[in-house]
Amino acid sequence: MSSRLTPVVIVGARGRMGKALIGEVVKSDTLVLDGAVDRSGGPGRGQDAGTLAGLHPIGVTVTDNLAPRRNTVVVDFSLPEATQTNIERCRDAGVALVLGTTGLDKESLDLLRSAAKTIPIVSAANFSAGITLLTRLAGLAARALGDDWNIELFELHHRHKRDAPSGTAKRIAKRIARAMDRNPDEVIVAGRGGSTNEPRGVKEIGLSSARGGDSAGEHTLMFLTDGERIELTHRAGDRTIFARGALRAAQWVASQPPGLYDMSDVLGLSALS
Ligand code: NAD
Repeated sequence: MSSRLTPVVIVGARGRMGKALIGEVVKSDTLVLDGAVDRSGGPGRGQDAGTLAGLHPIGVTVTDNLAPRRNTVVVDFSLPEATQTNIERCRDAGVALVLGTTGLDKESLDLLRSAAKTIPIVSAANFSAGITLLTRLAGLAARALGDDWNIELFELHHRHKRDAPSGTAKRIAKRIARAMDRNPDEVIVAGRGGSTNEPRGVKEIGLSSARGGDSAGEHTLMFLTDGERIELTHRAGDRTIFARGALRAAQWVASQPPGLYDMSDVLGLSALS
């Protein structure tokens, strides 16, 4: 193995994201797959990870035990119930962690913060580089434009998605609210059904949702004022955008000191307020 390659271990290997991650690692010139882990039982245990991802065999067998070797980076996209054990294994082995699993409880978040005192961790609910940038731009643009501009965010997702608005839309709206020194609970208005007999409030941040088809996710942020409109749109093709972002984070975090980071740090956007 070349010393220039960063070895990664994928946790949740049999899942939709796990397979996408394995596929992207196999194609990568800078990363190499050092392990693939999923829960006990199930059809994929003992299978070659490359075959599991629909590719050629790569000589890495899927196991049910996370035991990362020194200098590897663990990339965990599994389930919230598995997160605490995975964080502890990484902390005890002294290896970096990229955590994409969502829906973590308070105990897991506390453990994440304490483990980040000894190992570097990148955690993000959305690893897309494009969405990370859009979220940053949203705050910067809102503040630069000021209260004369109305802000409306539209999101579209596939027909199977159960929650609305999307978690990403809510995070973008909160980022804008914070940038504008507004209380998110007071200014974010999701859905505009019915008649209120009132025009929109000047400080409102409107969210609207549509569901249908197979869209992996579309977010359009509109800044509107008299005679002008700015639209910023991000369209997700498929889940490989999250895999590519997470692996970019894995490459980056391999040389970072202990700490808790997010995708803004990986993209070098943290200095922008
Ligand atoms: P999935 O259900 O297809 O896959 C989850 C995998 O984790 C399964 O193969 C399951 O067997 C495995 N697993 C369960 N318990 C485990 C354990 N104890 N140890 C190891 N593996 C275990 O789900 P998915 O669509 O691949 O998503 C996985 C997670 O990633 C979810 O939390 C999802 O919300 C999140 N996600 C995050 C992002 C992001 O950008 N942060 C993007 C997409 C999905």
